[in-house]
Amino acid sequence: MAEIEPGRIAYAACPLCGDAAILDLLEADCTQHLLYQAALPASIGWCRCHGCGHVFAEGYFNRAAEQLIFAATPPGQEPGEDVERQRGLWAEVVERVTAQLNTAPARAAAATGRWLDVGFGNGSLIFTAAEWGYQTLGIDLRAASVAKLQALGFDARACNISDLDEPGTFQVISLADVIEHMPFPRQPLEHAANLLAPQGLLFVSTPNMDTAVWKALDAQQANPYWGELEHYHCFSRTRLYALLEDCGFEALHYAVSPRYRCGMDVIARKR
Ligand SMILES: [Zn+2]
Repeated sequence: MAEIEPGRIAYAACPLCGDAAILDLLEADCTQHLLYQAALPASIGWCRCHGCGHVFAEGYFNRAAEQLIFAATPPGQEPGEDVERQRGLWAEVVERVTAQLNTAPARAAAATGRWLDVGFGNGSLIFTAAEWGYQTLGIDLRAASVAKLQALGFDARACNISDLDEPGTFQVISLADVIEHMPFPRQPLEHAANLLAPQGLLFVSTPNMDTAVWKALDAQQANPYWGELEHYHCFSRTRLYALLEDCGFEALHYAVSPRYRCGMDVIARKR
């Protein structure tokens, strides 16, 4: 097999709505990113969909580029790292989700259940959900992180959400700062709806580009997200809600994320 150079596979159409009319938005340097390596393209071109207005990178990484990036774990993403501060940050998320879960008519009797965390990173959301009594499962593409979480006594697997075949068995699925990393988020979201029990909840956090903070960062030419090597999407709240709706969810709750700049925390219920 011919050696393939690490690089991006260009989107032929909008990854959310499929419209082929793609407008160039801007080009950003990504050589200052912590995971940047010289074999990768030095800049990211960002585009806007003419049809739905979604903003996305010109392409997603091929296997060779993914392998380079996944070889390293970003700082703060080792399971068990910064665990004390992270506990406090995630507690409010678990509390909000649990409150929403208990308002669902079918869930009045039981407080918790199974919680799937996709892309668990440092594992803090899992540790915190376990404190509330959830039976947790963490999945991540970094095999070393999976081994580490297992060693800490938690159920973990090295796979994609699409690899899970346990329909209707989770009360909660969390995609915490994950959706912007997925080349085509629609299919994984539809699969999440399938994995959730009736009235099950989805937690999604991602940067919100439709905020005064984002515009201020742009004005200062200090917006870190344009150079974010691992991100393929910049969502607005409106575009995210429309996508969730298309994939079988009804958005219930919106909050500002204290964990990341411009971050939004959204809770949605399976319809
Ligand atoms: Zn579109």
